[in-house]
Order: sequence, then C-alpha cells, then structure tokens
Amino acid sequence: MSDGAPQPSRRAGEGVDPSAVTGPPLARVQPEGVGVTLAALRRAAAGEAEVTGRAAGAPAPAAAAQLGHGPGHGCSASAARAPAPDTSGIASPRLAADGPRAAGLRRIVGLAERAPASRRALDQLERLDVAVALLYPSARHWGHYVIGEGVLYLRCDHPWQGVRTLVHEARHAEQAAAGYSTIVEWHVPGTQLPWDAASYLLLNRVLEADADAHVALASWQLARAVDPGAWSSLLAVDREFAGIAAAFQAAAAGDRDGEPAGMRAAFVAWFTAGRGPGYDEYLLPWIERVVARGGATRAARRLDDAGARAIAAQAACPRYLDGIERPLTGAPFTAWSEAIAARLAGLALRVVDAGGA
Ligand SMILES: [Zn+2]
Repeated sequence: MSDGAPQPSRRAGEGVDPSAVTGPPLARVQPEGVGVTLAALRRAAAGEAEVTGRAAGAPAPAAAAQLGHGPGHGCSASAARAPAPDTSGIASPRLAADGPRAAGLRRIVGLAERAPASRRALDQLERLDVAVALLYPSARHWGHYVIGEGVLYLRCDHPWQGVRTLVHEARHAEQAAAGYSTIVEWHVPGTQLPWDAASYLLLNRVLEADADAHVALASWQLARAVDPGAWSSLLAVDREFAGIAAAFQAAAAGDRDGEPAGMRAAFVAWFTAGRGPGYDEYLLPWIERVVARGGATRAARRLDDAGARAIAAQAACPRYLDGIERPLTGAPFTAWSEAIAARLAGLALRVVDAGGA
C-alpha cells in the first residue's frame, strides 16, 4: 500500500475492528480535520477551471521531465527499500478544498479528470469517501493510502507523479473495499488469516501489479488527452517501472484490443521487471513479527488464480487478465528469491483448511 517500514498506514491499522477481517467492505473512519474530501476537491478544481477558463494546466515540459527524480513511485519497491518516511512531512489540518494550500491537490485532480482511467480513480475515491491530505515535499515518498482512516496522503510537487500516485492508491482503496488487502488482517493479533503466508506475499504482489497496471493505463490515456509528458515522465520513474511501461506500450500499440492488452502486458512485466522481491522483503518482516508475537498463525485459504481474476474483474479494463492462463500460480508470478523462500519455510505457517479457498 505504501512505502517503507514501519509505515503510518501499517501502524494506523492497529486496533482495527476484527470484524473487518471477514466483512468487507472495510469500515471507513471519517478523517475529520485531517484532509479534504475528494468530492470537495473535485468541486473546487472544477470551479477553478471555470474561473480561469481552462482546466488545471499540464506541467511545463521541464517540470514533467523532472518527475522521475525522487525517492520512487507511491508504492514502489525502490521506495520500500528507502528509510522510513519522514512523518513530520504529514500535515494538513483544516485543509480547505478551495484554499491556497490545496492548490497543488486541485491541479492534480484537474489533470486526473481529463482521461477515463484517472477519472475513474477519482470516482472510486469519491464513492469510498476517501479524504486527501497533503504530504509535504520533505517526505521521502510520493504518497500512501491509510485504509483504517480512509485518507490518501499525497505530495504535490510533481503533478504527473501526483496523478500516478493518486491512481495507484485509489486502486488500493478500491481493492480494500472489495475485501482484498494485505494490511488489516495482520493488525489483529490472534486473528485467523484469510491467506497463508506465501499467498499473502502473492496477494500483495497482485495488488501492486494491478495498481501499477492502472497507473500505466491512466498515463497512456493522459499522454493522448493532455500532454505527452504524462507518459514520458512515467518512463523516467525508475528502471523497473520503465520496463512495465514499455511492455504496456508495445502491447497497446500492436493489439486491436489495445488498452486491456497493455494492462495485461504491464501486469506480467511487473513480475519479470523484478518488482516482486522488493515488496516481499518489505512485507515479510512484518509477517514474521506478527507470527513471533503469537498472532495469526493459521490460515483458512490459499490465494489461487480465481482470486487474481476476481481482483482484476473490478479493474478499469475488466477481464484484462483473461489472456493469461494462470495469472498467479504460473511462472513468473510465484518466483521467490532463495532468501524469501527460506524465510517462508521458517514461518511454518500451514494452510489448515485449503477447502475454504
Ligand atoms: Zn501500492
């Protein structure tokens, strides 16, 4: 969901109602006084566009070119390897949707309104009553979504990156509301897990690959609708993401079924681009800590290919995984590093009721 460890989102999940584990959608806590609702932000951004006679502007080419330089994408593996985020950068009490402090957020929202996939992300955030809060540029990551609070923290210093982070985190919000999350369950000591440990890492990979496939789709559309910088700056984010984006481009340009084909290629490339190990290494210590303190040692279900398809079924391009025979249990999706495989074995977690899958 977010980057670094420990994470505000992880900590914020502690003490969550255990019923949230088995009863999606997850309970949402109104983040009053922390951020501004997406609905209010959209209204303010639309009003601003009316007053100035134009939609929120695209960034100057120079600004767009800079987007790749930073600590990493919203949930990127590179960011996951970075030190814990500077939480002093999180602050936006009494943020007014039409106030000067929210100008950067309005610009990001205005850009996101201009293509179907990013507009869909805004719709989802609004539907789920997610609030948006400012993450100051001093933060070491681009943004994150806190499920337990229903707040998306966003940096505004690079508009296209802001749109990408918004799309990525909106997808996590949507996934969580549909009952797919790698956050909440582990915050309830003693709770039976819905997934075994290996499935847990796999689920996390699928959720991130799916979110990044949406980022690629939105950037692809925005490059056509608004500014080529939406795409070129994505290619510059990092080498792993550049590989994912290149796969999207090659598939989308060469297939009559362009966008779903692009998403499918991006999803597969997420695994072959080496995205997985960073996320595994970031999530596994947390699982180990929970197990070490006696929580969550049983799992009722194993994530299977049908689970991956169920997640994709609610995507911007539903059925985008249909061209993949085994979107989760086949290669390269389950390729663990030797170190991770050894640690998974050491956890000695067992699927106690595989029939529940
Ligand atoms: Zn993520």
